Amino acid sequence: METRRGIAVAPGVAIGSAFVLGAENFRIPQRFVKVDVVETELARFRAAITAVCEEIEQNEKLATERLGKQYAAIFSAHRMMIQDPKLTQEIEDLIRNKCYSPEFAASRVLRQYAKTIQNLGDNYLSERAVDLHDLEKRLLKQLLGERHEELANLTQPVVVLANNLTPSETASIDTKFVLGFATEVGGRTSHTAILAGALEIPAVVGLGNFLSGVTGGEMVVIDGTLGAVIIDPDEETLSRYRDTAAKFRTTSVERESLTQVRPETRDGVHIRLAGNIEFPEEIEHCTHRGAEGIGLYRTEFLYLGRDRPPSEEDHYQAYARVMAAFPDRPVVIRTLDLGADKVPEMMQSIFQGTANPALGLRSLRISLQNLGLFKTQLRAILRAAALGDVWVMFPLVSSLLELRQARMILGDVMDDLDEHGVPFRRDLKVGMMVEVPSAALMADEFAREVDFFSVGTNDLIQYTLAVDRADPAVANLYSSADPSILRLIRRVVEAGQRYNIPVNVCGQMSSDPIYTPLLVGMGLRQLSVTPQVIPEIKQVIRSLTIPQAQDIAKHAEGFDVARDVEAYLRGELKKLCPDIVV
Ligand code: PEP
Ligand code: MG
Repeated sequence: METRRGIAVAPGVAIGSAFVLGAENFRIPQRFVKVDVVETELARFRAAITAVCEEIEQNEKLATERLGKQYAAIFSAHRMMIQDPKLTQEIEDLIRNKCYSPEFAASRVLRQYAKTIQNLGDNYLSERAVDLHDLEKRLLKQLLGERHEELANLTQPVVVLANNLTPSETASIDTKFVLGFATEVGGRTSHTAILAGALEIPAVVGLGNFLSGVTGGEMVVIDGTLGAVIIDPDEETLSRYRDTAAKFRTTSVERESLTQVRPETRDGVHIRLAGNIEFPEEIEHCTHRGAEGIGLYRTEFLYLGRDRPPSEEDHYQAYARVMAAFPDRPVVIRTLDLGADKVPEMMQSIFQGTANPALGLRSLRISLQNLGLFKTQLRAILRAAALGDVWVMFPLVSSLLELRQARMILGDVMDDLDEHGVPFRRDLKVGMMVEVPSAALMADEFAREVDFFSVGTNDLIQYTLAVDRADPAVANLYSSADPSILRLIRRVVEAGQRYNIPVNVCGQMSSDPIYTPLLVGMGLRQLSVTPQVIPEIKQVIRSLTIPQAQDIAKHAEGFDVARDVEAYLRGELKKLCPDIVV
């Protein structure tokens, strides 16, 4: 049994067989073979070795012709490794003596070698570990042939383990077959983590290097609440986790009973709770938990998994679907926030070679440089606005001029629709995300020019603390509780109060119940959260009074380091709602 700790990003427990993505999406379908087929399996293994050697020889020949003999030497080294009698003997012994399938035996031996070499800490030898992974891929490809499986073609439930999943890979996950996932990289608010929340499957990210020790097919537990992954759990651990999973389901069902009650403090103040969505399919997650509208619709996900940009009609149909679920509630549609880690296949070439994507061409900057793309989306938003209470929101605004430019284009699109007699709504609310420190610092000036603010803590934290939100190496430095973040939020809330415009928090901070008393105490009267946590956040709101929340906020704002703020808020939540696990 091996336990790994990572970052918990989507709660719940998943128990199932490991599907390892990484060795070019190979999955080992069976780990053992029957005793009476061992000889046949050995023959299959030897045939695969011969085929791999032939393949390597071909590569060696090609490399010699094109690049010269010295480059072909890499391949001769590979050939020597795979023909090493000690290595092949070790694999054959496992097949013969332990009835391992050739795939499982080969993968296990090659990975063990790679792990040993990597642990020596020698740079040159570490590269040889890459060679061993390469050989493993070649061998598995030969052995599995047609049985080579991909994430998109799963036919039975698994737990996915991967180095990384891109947002588009995550978005393509079929939750019928993927019970949960765990990745080596990724941070608390990386878009992959956000999508795990959207899919409502348990997930842990930022586990560090662990895949080299896993072959696939092992029993795995993913604890998405506490951020643990257990490989090959013993009987006792397994049965404990089966109980935890059952308890999680019961608590979720019990909390669902809060669906119909208002998110109101004990002294009767209503805190509007809206949902964050990435896909129109998620509206049901929101409606059945009693969300009061959509506080953030991340429309860039319309681009994922397509080979050409969505048309105005594609945009419109998606928005109309959301409006049909919330005909008389505010629906905040955010204009495209592409770039950084959200790069659709079709746009990959634009971003290739970008040294620092989070600080580069992303979000509103892309829209302002690609007016065709921007106007197409704005036309669809304005048309959908005729169906209900649509608010349009610009992401990553960093200066007043940028905001004014975006507003001017919105005005042009309105005039154009008018001219062509297309029905739309002119008086929709126009707002902005406050997610760049410059915008928070200039909140007063911005408040005069918009109808609402929505604080995007995910990016605000990344840019204020200079911590990449997706990098597990600095995940311990990424904190919503940092006093600088509290000060910036306070500044935005007060600007909103001075200019009488609503302020929302739509970053992941508002989905974490430890921050609910603080945010309410700071004066926020609306929060937009991951749909799955609506009942939990409602429970916290209903356990509070406003003076109590104000006291908590005052106290929390008095600390000078994140660790103290967080410990204090955790303690306060425990007093208010002891049954919430954080
Ligand atoms: C944010 O930055 O807090 C936010 C809500 O936007 P996204 O996570 O989509 O960048
Ligand atoms: Mg953001």
